[in-house]
Amino acid sequence: LATVEAELRSLATDVDEYRLALRNWLGDHRQDLEPSRARNHQEHIANGLQLSRTLWTAGWKRVGWPLELEGHGGGPRHRATYYDELGRAGLEIPDTDFSIEVIGPSMYHFAPELAAAYLPRLLSGEEAWAQAFSEPEAGSDLASLRTRGVVVGDEVVVDGQKVWTSHGHLAVRLLALVRTGKSDSRHRGLSALLIDTDTAGLTRRPMTFASGIDEMCETFFDGVRVPTARMVGAQDEGWTVAMRMLQYERSMYAAQRQAWLGVRLRQLLAYLADVGASGDAQPAIGSAWLQLQTVRARAIENVRRLEAGAEIGPEASADKVLLARAEQSIFEIVRHAAHSGFVFDETAEDWRAGWWYSRATSIFGGAGEIQRSIVADRVLCLPRETTGGR
Ligand SMILES: Cc1cc2nc3c(=O)[nH]c(=O)nc-3n(C[C@H](O)[C@H](O)[C@H](O)COP(=O)(O)OP(=O)(O)OC[C@H]3O[C@@H](n4cnc5c(N)ncnc54)[C@H](O)[C@@H]3O)c2cc1C
Repeated sequence: LATVEAELRSLATDVDEYRLALRNWLGDHRQDLEPSRARNHQEHIANGLQLSRTLWTAGWKRVGWPLELEGHGGGPRHRATYYDELGRAGLEIPDTDFSIEVIGPSMYHFAPELAAAYLPRLLSGEEAWAQAFSEPEAGSDLASLRTRGVVVGDEVVVDGQKVWTSHGHLAVRLLALVRTGKSDSRHRGLSALLIDTDTAGLTRRPMTFASGIDEMCETFFDGVRVPTARMVGAQDEGWTVAMRMLQYERSMYAAQRQAWLGVRLRQLLAYLADVGASGDAQPAIGSAWLQLQTVRARAIENVRRLEAGAEIGPEASADKVLLARAEQSIFEIVRHAAHSGFVFDETAEDWRAGWWYSRATSIFGGAGEIQRSIVADRVLCLPRETTGGR
């Protein structure tokens, strides 16, 4: 085992060697990694955690994370390679890995001690965590959120409600954004807290999608007491933490998602052949493939920039728009080409769920209109829209 560990650590210095070694290992162990068919979202999350545990224990998933987090060293390029190779092997990237990329790097950056104490449990697949930012009246306008966090001694007492928390009802901890400043403090009065979901006063209610999948939840906080030591970043500095997280949500997420969409596109070709779909879909398939390659090219560039320690900045909004377009294009092909079978066939269940989910890709992590506005204002520096006349 010591030799394997030493080899993995050395791979953390060379991305290409890591890629090849991981690819070979996945090729040898692919059968053992095949998940059992999930009958509900809980089983789907459990399958993902199991895959993570296996790959963490074998050492592959530790590459890309620092030694302080029980990793083997390396950086974002290794992690992107890991996701790419999972996709290449036809393995679904666990949902919890999306939380890892959104929460992990920022938590390590702003709260290294807290990260060292807790983050390995998330990275290793021991626990699922979720990101609780959105509220019923605070989605696009996140700075208007109202969940209160009152600091009393060495505790923060939290009251309020969160909504749309992906797999939040299955999570052991939530990374929540609460208002510790005055009610009109907007983005200047927010703090980020790591909250255990079994804390007294916290209740969760699963929410079921139109697809029938209970993928998310709403969470109610009634006098929930959280140690101030669980603050990620300084008090009232939560906006900076959230913006750094969103940067990863809009860039590394694209790197992960494109890897999985590459798999879906390959599966799509097989499915269309199975159901005898006509050749009419070919232009749409070509177009979706091109869209996906665009996302991939951008993702590679962004991951290189993350590796170099650069800020991704507002350009990540363009990636989010491109990714949503590619995902929706892929699933629209099935809907059109499989005709009524798409709606009625039992065998199309997985494609239907994918189609429903694709509709949400232009909403979560910042809706399409918001992303386009960011690109217009902050990347292209176009003149701001005015509402009045001349
Ligand atoms: C599948 C899914 C998973 C999610 N997961 C999470 C999660 O894990 N954690 C979390 O915290 N949240 C999560 N969300 C919530 C998500 O971040 C919000 O839905 C999103 O930010 C939009 O907010 P909203 O739903 O309140 O819509 P609103 O903000 O009410 O927007 C409604 C519509 O108005 C448009 N709009 C709003 N303001 C403007 C403006 N200024 N200019 C132009 N158009 C505007 C929007 O683009 C949108 O089309 C998830 C959502 C979905 C669908």
